[in-house]
Amino acid sequence: MKVARFHAPGDLRVEEAPEPTAGPGELKIRVRNCSTCGTDTKIFHHGHHHIRPPRVMGHEIAGEVVGTGERVQVIAAIPCGSCEECRRGRMTVCPNQESMGYHYDGGFAEYMIVPAKVMAVDGVNRIPDGVSFAEASVAEPLACVLNGQELARVGEGDDVVVMGAGPIGCLHVRLARARGAARVFLVDVNPARLALAAAMVQPDAAIDADPVEQVLKLTGGRGADVVITAAASGTAQEQALRMAARQGRVSFFGGLPKDDPIIACDSNLVHYRELTIVGANGSSPAHNARALGLIAEEAVPVADLITHRLGLSQVLEAIDLVSKGVAIKVTIEP
Ligand SMILES: [Zn+2]
Ligand SMILES: [Zn+2]
Repeated sequence: MKVARFHAPGDLRVEEAPEPTAGPGELKIRVRNCSTCGTDTKIFHHGHHHIRPPRVMGHEIAGEVVGTGERVQVIAAIPCGSCEECRRGRMTVCPNQESMGYHYDGGFAEYMIVPAKVMAVDGVNRIPDGVSFAEASVAEPLACVLNGQELARVGEGDDVVVMGAGPIGCLHVRLARARGAARVFLVDVNPARLALAAAMVQPDAAIDADPVEQVLKLTGGRGADVVITAAASGTAQEQALRMAARQGRVSFFGGLPKDDPIIACDSNLVHYRELTIVGANGSSPAHNARALGLIAEEAVPVADLITHRLGLSQVLEAIDLVSKGVAIKVTIEP
């Protein structure tokens, strides 16, 4: 079979590999869609400390179970299910978390094995009728977005700002609307990317400069109830704190570069305005199941966000499209 295997930073090869066989407690899948995201471009360029090459990449996975033909979506982050955090229901912060495409071969392949550890935490979801494999592959990033908005308590009547107009930002806009947000504003420093995303998800305003001033103006000086930073930008995080309303919630959804994670925070802003700052680290198996439900109910439509469908042999092209920010969602169809 054909796979796309990471060998070293900048060295991702489409090559032949023996078709894998499922061991006890494992599941073999014929991958139908594996979508790409910013993390894949990061791994391609810089590698990852959890990846020991060679490793088949790809973690936004949907396919058919070999033998039964059942249509399934697979989680990316695998909690251990037994540590103190997992037992308390905090699976997104399991310290023993492993990931598909990192610790285990992922979905940029014709066939893939679902590890027993994934089965043990209910990490395989049946795809509802009417949901395509490509749409189902977007359940994983949507699950992460859902976790972020639950932690930031996005709800009825909120004015929400999403900073970063990539695929994750687009999902944040749609989910905020589904959760009853009053208005959603989308911010990006790249006007072309912002225009592309805004045409798709129709925010109440699209802001490409002076976001703090613009948001304050749009909210009559009050600020936004929730600000979500879906960009690896310390500047965006600092701006988010300054545009939050009293008792606002700020989600540092996107992480910062490892070598540059320190930001300036006016602590008195947090104190007097009673701000809440929350992080977000991936998603739990339950988030994946619920994300798939949101897609099936069309509460969060994703079909139109899939702008590019490429074969496995075009995986480098896919990563290039994602890096350039000229696509919204790029999916691989092995
Ligand atoms: Zn991803
Ligand atoms: Zn755990």
